[in-house]
Amino acid sequence: MRKKFKAALCISVCAVLFMLCSCQEKVAGRRTFALGTVCEQSIYSTADMDIPSLLKSGEDIMNRMDSLISTSRDASEINKISQNSGESVECDAQTADLISRAKQLAEQTGGAFDPTLGALTAAWDFNGEPRVPSDEEIAELLKTVDYTKIEVENTEQSHSASVGQGQRLDLGGIAKGYITDLLTELYIQHGVTRALINLGGNIRTIGEFELGIRDPQGEASDSFCTITLKDKSIVTSGGYIRNFEQDGVTYHHILDPKTGKPAESDILSVSIISESSTLADAYSTAVFVLGSESGLKLVENTDDAECIIVTSDDKIIMSSGFEELCSPVFETDKYQK
Ligand code: AMP
Ligand code: MG
Repeated sequence: MRKKFKAALCISVCAVLFMLCSCQEKVAGRRTFALGTVCEQSIYSTADMDIPSLLKSGEDIMNRMDSLISTSRDASEINKISQNSGESVECDAQTADLISRAKQLAEQTGGAFDPTLGALTAAWDFNGEPRVPSDEEIAELLKTVDYTKIEVENTEQSHSASVGQGQRLDLGGIAKGYITDLLTELYIQHGVTRALINLGGNIRTIGEFELGIRDPQGEASDSFCTITLKDKSIVTSGGYIRNFEQDGVTYHHILDPKTGKPAESDILSVSIISESSTLADAYSTAVFVLGSESGLKLVENTDDAECIIVTSDDKIIMSSGFEELCSPVFETDKYQK
């Protein structure tokens, strides 16, 4: 029975929701394919609100942002900014805001998160036909990586952004978090008091939910730990999430901006908890790049961030406020605390 319960917890966050909702609550959900992943909105309500139209507005936000910031859409604003590198390009206020947040978080993480990695992520092409670029190609493309060259103007009257000559933007490490925050804002504005947003594993709760954190060495349905999360986001990064193998070597999708290659991290998975999903998203990528020691320091020095890390030598490392914040229940003794 217990085992069955655990498995159900991890199958999808939606399944968790259905188990936990009380009988008086009505739940309405919507699943959308956007941002290259499955995006789920679930709103619980006892109140008389027009939830279907709220879900539709949520979906509109996802689709709109996808068309603005996706690197896989030629005509996206992000690609326009990259194609016109060195020049200021007018854009939507939210595109400008997201780029500005990305620059801020790059600064805050000492460049471990760097949204100007776009030329390199395009060369590795993890989302398309992955390949290992030559060392010469990597060295050449690395010259284009430098978040300090991003410029953003975002006032009431004008919104524009520019990158340095030859630079390409990739907001894949932060966009889902940013859009999750937009949906959270929308729900709260409309008086929603209980909801769960899950944009491809990038999660935000409004109200309190129990969630399983995936075991990086298990099946997709295995969790190593269950947490209670109230009004917060949790975002996980790990090399197991997307990778390919060539000549016996596994290459994963999180690049070290210093080398242009998959980060050689001692982390299997890192989950960041924060009220801000934007921060949690960028930090999960950055902490993975930094490794457990520097990554933990970064989190400890940041307000509104906690983390749990699973290391490649099977240890669990938690930031000082993690246990108090989310009362983790560990489901396996595979990892040493
Ligand atoms: P995440 O799954 O949130 O860790 O983000 C990984 C995605 O962010 C990758 O698929 C790339 O598009 C992009 N990315 C990879 N490495 C970095 C990095 N060091 N900084 C910023 N974005 C990155
Ligand atoms: Mg991220």
